[in-house]
Amino acid sequence: MTALDTLQEALEETTAVAADYQVPEHRVRVHEERFRETAARHGFLPGAMQRTILDVAAQHHAECDREHCRTCDTIRHGLTTTLAALRVAVAAERGPRLVRKAS
Ligand SMILES: [Zn+2]
Repeated sequence: MTALDTLQEALEETTAVAADYQVPEHRVRVHEERFRETAARHGFLPGAMQRTILDVAAQHHAECDREHCRTCDTIRHGLTTTLAALRVAVAAERGPRLVRKAS
């Protein structure tokens, strides 16, 4: 699976969930323009995803007092993969100069 395949799959899944939540297309277009302006820099995609999951996580955390909760499980998994992706993105952004090699 190529990076484009992964992105295409994520786009399709996100489009379906966005439809369930009645996300207005014109708001998506506004943000698309903003991201296009900063497309030269990496990080806008994980940044946008991180903001979404953090907002959902914070709201659900404030409301949920269930011992076993599938939403909490899903949020936990999302935070796990988001955290990993952000660490990789930050490391890539900093560049190889900070990577120590055994000599
Ligand atoms: Zn919960």
